Amino acid sequence: MADLYDFSATDGSDKDLLGGKGAGLARMTSLGLPVPPGFTITTEVCRATMASGDIPADLWPEVDAAVARLEEQTGRTFGSGPVPILLSVRSGAKFSMPGMMDTVLNLGINEGIVKTLIEWSGDPHFGWDANRRFLQMYGDVVLGIEATLFQDVLTEMRATRGVDDDSELTSDDLEETTRRFRAIIERERPGQLPDDPMQQLRGAITAVFKSWNTKRAIAYRRIHGISDDLGTAANVQMMVFGDLGDDSGTGVCFTRDPATGSKTLYGDYLPRAQGEDVVAGRRNTLTLDELAGLHPECHRQLIEIMDGLETHYRDMCDIEFTIEKDVLYILQTRAGKRTAAAAVRLAVAMVHEGLIDEKTAVTRVAPAALEQLHRPRIADHVDIGSAVASGVAASPGAATGKVVFTSDSAVARAREGEKVILVRPETTPDDIHGMAAAIGILTSQGGKTSHAAVVARGMGKPAITGAAAILVDVDAGVARAKNDDLREGDVITIDGTSGLVFLGEVDVVEPESIPELQELLTWADQIRKLEVRANADTAEDAAFARARGAAGIGLARTEHMFLGERLAIVQSLILSSDPEQRQKALNDLEQQQIGDFESLLEAMDGLPVVIRLLDPPLHEFLPSRLELEHEMLGRVRAGRPIDDLQAMSDQVARWEEDNPMLGLRGVRLGLMVKDLYRMQARAATTALTRRIQAGAAPHLEIMIPLVAVAEELIQMRDVIEEEIARATEGSGVELDIDIGTMIELPRAALTAGEIARVADFFSFGTNDLTQMTYGLSRDDAEGLFLRDYLEQGILSSDPFQSIDRDGVGRLIRVATKEGREANPDLIVGLCGEHGGDPESIAFVHDLGLDYVSCSPPRIEGARLAAAQAALGDMESAQRVD
Ligand code: ADP
Ligand code: MG
Ligand code: MG
Repeated sequence: MADLYDFSATDGSDKDLLGGKGAGLARMTSLGLPVPPGFTITTEVCRATMASGDIPADLWPEVDAAVARLEEQTGRTFGSGPVPILLSVRSGAKFSMPGMMDTVLNLGINEGIVKTLIEWSGDPHFGWDANRRFLQMYGDVVLGIEATLFQDVLTEMRATRGVDDDSELTSDDLEETTRRFRAIIERERPGQLPDDPMQQLRGAITAVFKSWNTKRAIAYRRIHGISDDLGTAANVQMMVFGDLGDDSGTGVCFTRDPATGSKTLYGDYLPRAQGEDVVAGRRNTLTLDELAGLHPECHRQLIEIMDGLETHYRDMCDIEFTIEKDVLYILQTRAGKRTAAAAVRLAVAMVHEGLIDEKTAVTRVAPAALEQLHRPRIADHVDIGSAVASGVAASPGAATGKVVFTSDSAVARAREGEKVILVRPETTPDDIHGMAAAIGILTSQGGKTSHAAVVARGMGKPAITGAAAILVDVDAGVARAKNDDLREGDVITIDGTSGLVFLGEVDVVEPESIPELQELLTWADQIRKLEVRANADTAEDAAFARARGAAGIGLARTEHMFLGERLAIVQSLILSSDPEQRQKALNDLEQQQIGDFESLLEAMDGLPVVIRLLDPPLHEFLPSRLELEHEMLGRVRAGRPIDDLQAMSDQVARWEEDNPMLGLRGVRLGLMVKDLYRMQARAATTALTRRIQAGAAPHLEIMIPLVAVAEELIQMRDVIEEEIARATEGSGVELDIDIGTMIELPRAALTAGEIARVADFFSFGTNDLTQMTYGLSRDDAEGLFLRDYLEQGILSSDPFQSIDRDGVGRLIRVATKEGREANPDLIVGLCGEHGGDPESIAFVHDLGLDYVSCSPPRIEGARLAAAQAALGDMESAQRVD
């Protein structure tokens, strides 16, 4: 297999080999679009380089030959006149990682060639600018010199010349800048800047392959779940110059509005600019309409190309273009990043337009993004005049949090549980950690396509860019907004939907749902096999979950019903030795529980409701001995009696456990304090009877937690069935109640065949099952070592977020199989955090589970994820990025 392919040599269908950018360039070339010529060195070469630590030696002759073909094709020459070719060397992995990896532009320039370029172009400004840009990028990307060393020179040049933008520097200024850049490189990396263009090219290609493993690239892949093994391709392409005088420029455009999804073309154009100038946001960009005024023919051609690419890829495309002396070139296309709302609207609109089918539409929206559609926004009554600044509405949703100016500080404060908003002049790929830790992002520069905007949209966080009225001075740790100074820790509210910034906290409201979402979810419902239920403990949660499409309650945790004012009753039930007092407590609780269950059954009328009997880590219900002792001390000092407190303290001591999570919990407590579970069963049957008598259609299921041994379930089942029989006897109403168990202990999973004989259903409690399988406590692990484990790659993902397929997943597989063999009617579900996680949903779909149950805000995402699981992995084959 060849190490590289000319853009014109393939049709660009092999994204694994060519990477997304290379595939797009080849595809656009084959479609006849004006793509500057070049070639793609394959991801295979990157993988070989990673494996051996060196670029395969046989690559370089192939590169030489490819450059020779370029020269032949263009009639220009690399490394000499009269018309020198400059090259861009660009990384491009299979999945787009915007701004994550490195590009070197204007490669092939040296002190001689810059003169030739100036002669050719008649534009010294252009020549020296090309040269200084090359030195800056080569110095940074290839030689690893601190980028700020170069930026400081430019900042100083701008200041002494009294200009805001590099483009306003004179050619003399740029020549001087170039000289100073050379001096920096000579000082920092003596003798390492090759004059020979071919040596430069080799250096840059090597650097692109190495950039696959930079810290920020690895961090990006972690966040977006991209495998480290894919490797990147390297694209070598002839430069076209957007900075060649006033009839040149560069831009980015989207075939639809990436923020709303509406069918309007969107673009940013910057005259006299190159490369990332347009997304860096230092100068204000022009709109596509303004571009039409400057370059009517290029504009017409661009619109036609946008249209053609969208039809070809059947998706919203994000396109990079450059105009060189009134001639249009296309430099990149990929599936445009979009907000969740835009993704939903686009997908549904494209079905209506006949561009894609319903199944494809279902694969086009990331399930996790649906939550953001229901994100809070600023309340209507808030005086928008009170905003201290407005910027570009870069990513929707409102967020209130404390200002931080650096990513490190964002990470540190988030670790302490604080909500922070990262405030920066602009963000760069080095800020990825800080952006991940923040709940919102605010930058004073940039537009809708700036780094901050693109990354925030991908992460689904509110962001405002280009809020020029906020002057951010990171070094001084202050941002000036109108007349106020914002310092680290000050609270602000940002509204990424309107682009407004407020001081302090302001009222926010829930958004209304977009109608297209219901249509999309209806398609998803037709496709999916998994049922989606909700984890809900209250009638309000249940009603909310039902509105989001829950097919019942998969987990109603009754211990939540025992807290608050009822805590005292529970305490006296457990602690009191006086039978009369205990009975009273039991009766009180029973009355309360009947009401709880009735309201749940009512909210979910016609749908199943799984009530899990009490599973408290006991200590959560008992008073703390330390506090009791304090109280006693106080009384002793006041000369009052302490007998009652002493008795209570003794009782608490009796129940005290070293490891409450491994102690008298769940069914164990049920068997030891028998009348507790009996009371709950009675309350549930009474509630059910009353609902039936009221003419409703309730479906009750009772679930026993923490079963390890079949005998536990057998004994509990007897108790519950006695209560059912008694209720039926009393009322004459036939009760049909399924009785099942959580599978949350490894022993239960391993003996599922036995347990299934006495269970009507299983529900995997994957939080506990994960804790018990790993032998760690989630709360402790998170603070102490889980993060380090993830950072060091000891764990590849957080097992509390996505099911650990190899370990916990294996238990689930075994238990499902053996449970169903023993009891063919067994219903198998999963409750716990994983029920809302798309990857875990895909896993249990493959295992053939009947349902997942998740928290109400995640229900819509789970419905979509279940459909995507059913459709398999057709998405990756279709996407352009
Ligand atoms: P990214 O993956 O971050 O988009 P790119 O490799 O696309 O990085 O390149 C960075 C910038 O350089 C982009 O703005 C791109 O349009 C520009 N660029 C890349 N190649 C060329 C070229 N051959 N001529 C002119 N500009 C180029
Ligand atoms: Mg880049
Ligand atoms: Mg690009």
